[in-house]
Amino acid sequence: MRAAIYSEFASPLTIETVADPTPSDHGVVIRVAATGLCRSDWHGWMGHDPDIRLPHVPGHELAGVIEAVGRHVGRWQVGDRVTVPFVCGCGTCAECAAGEHQVCERQFQPGFTHWGSFAQYVAIDYADANLVRLPEAIDFVTAASLGCRFATAFRAIVDQGQLSGGQWVAVHGCGGVGLSAIMIANALGANVIAIDIHEEKLDFARAIGAAETVNAAVVDDVVAQVQSITRGGVHVSLDALGSPTTCFNSIANLRKRGKHIQVGLMLGEHRQPSVPMDQVIANELEILGSHGMQSHRYPAMLAMITAGKLQPEKLVGKTIRLEESLEALTTMDRYPNTGVTVINQFD
Ligand SMILES: [Zn+2]
Ligand SMILES: [Zn+2]
Repeated sequence: MRAAIYSEFASPLTIETVADPTPSDHGVVIRVAATGLCRSDWHGWMGHDPDIRLPHVPGHELAGVIEAVGRHVGRWQVGDRVTVPFVCGCGTCAECAAGEHQVCERQFQPGFTHWGSFAQYVAIDYADANLVRLPEAIDFVTAASLGCRFATAFRAIVDQGQLSGGQWVAVHGCGGVGLSAIMIANALGANVIAIDIHEEKLDFARAIGAAETVNAAVVDDVVAQVQSITRGGVHVSLDALGSPTTCFNSIANLRKRGKHIQVGLMLGEHRQPSVPMDQVIANELEILGSHGMQSHRYPAMLAMITAGKLQPEKLVGKTIRLEESLEALTTMDRYPNTGVTVINQFD
């Protein structure tokens, strides 16, 4: 098969012909029809992920058709249209038994712990516990765009945030996760305040459902502005960016008994940001993390998409060929895109 591959971190990728994968006993091989480009792939390529062993094929936001099935797989057949969460649980550990595959003790992560989907085929282990059947109405490019940012935002807003209609929610950072969260929160009937430092991103946030916007590069005090708009703070707040400032503001702009959800990754020197713990105690705030979403929660999200309440295709930027991913991945930090870029041509 053809695959985009790197043999050293932070060095150019090349397209190579490598052996086709074979399924493990509990796994499948998927013919990749579409796979999204993500900042996590860039971090992996830079050498920021200790799970990656070289040489490596990136890619974890994938959709396609099952090409081969392992002998102990019960639920899936060749020809099934599927996608998969970026964290695949083993299905048997204590966390998986409790339904919490997103924090499995033996995670299989395509594009990190194993070769990923910047290739014609990808092998996925633990198929019965993780594959998600795609409705015919959802095309592969849209399905690939769900794999990481959209599903993560869904779990953050719906399952971790328990957001409901009429509540206020603040979304700090209007990148892929933030825009997904805004769309989902609006569909639930909540009032969304979008916060970013780029006016064009705030314009897009309004177009997909934000009721109010705050440009953090313009206002003196983001927290005071959010509290003024909401008369006392938001019920739920997301740090969708992952920085010490957005994390602090997202906790500080909560109303009493509000919930902060940390979604943006904290890497390097930002691993342990400062937190207004005095407010957490006095106002009985909750601080929650959110890490992907289990496959058994996908049907709720897919139902909202097929019903037309969520339109993830609006967040897809452009589609490219596998060859174009070589440069698109390595320059991600220099040319941040508004929409998700998806590879959908592999030959
Ligand atoms: Zn597990
Ligand atoms: Zn991703």
